[in-house]
Amino acid sequence: MRPVEKKKPGDIVRYTDSNNQEIEHIIQENYPDYGDAKFPLASNIGQYCSYCEGYEKIHSLEVEHMAAKAKGGSRTAWNNFLLCCKICNTVKGVEVINDDFHWPHLNNTFYSFVYDETGRVKVNDSIPALSQVRAQNLLDLTGLHRYPGDANGPTPKDFRWKYRYEAWKLATDWKLKFLDRLITEDDIISRVKDKGQWSIWFTVFKGIDSVRARLISDFPGTCASCFDANNHYEPIERNPGSPDPI
Ligand SMILES: [Zn+2]
Repeated sequence: MRPVEKKKPGDIVRYTDSNNQEIEHIIQENYPDYGDAKFPLASNIGQYCSYCEGYEKIHSLEVEHMAAKAKGGSRTAWNNFLLCCKICNTVKGVEVINDDFHWPHLNNTFYSFVYDETGRVKVNDSIPALSQVRAQNLLDLTGLHRYPGDANGPTPKDFRWKYRYEAWKLATDWKLKFLDRLITEDDIISRVKDKGQWSIWFTVFKGIDSVRARLISDFPGTCASCFDANNHYEPIERNPGSPDPI
């Protein structure tokens, strides 16, 4: 899950609206109509689901409330917003929310999880125990780990595992082509921009620093300090010294 840096109230974002108007927008503390935060969020962190990482057209993206409205979370506060696809938002529903979760704007959520060629996503068992618990809580909340045949399988409309599986296959194929110089970094970046699944590509391109650097620099809001440029852009602690350093 791509770790991101959310802008703060008072910061400026720029985007082009559907009338081709260049908009310069100052982030507000509150959005009385929370849908108004969608363009600013998309400008800040890109048009991707914050959880499953799929690319979404702007009209399909939803402003997601981390602390659910039905459980007392603020309807209007910028600090309670992320972007989300319909599936993740539906699965997430109205769970009770507290500090016991990893979040992509607060934690290094690329460190939290591991992806594999089957399309599964699991908690990284090399991170500290408390971090593992909080990472697992986010998986349980979003149902991202649902997988066919498992006890808690996906609903009929939930293909998130399959998008990961297909992205892994393609990324593996493109890595070979890239090493054979049949495709370029630009090809890879434009593919990931069109489809998403950032973490799959970042995982598969381990060891190819130039592509990893572009995946960080070319995707809005990616937390660059979450990765060690001196060690092949491997993930590093985002909150060192805290009980949950990830
Ligand atoms: Zn999603």
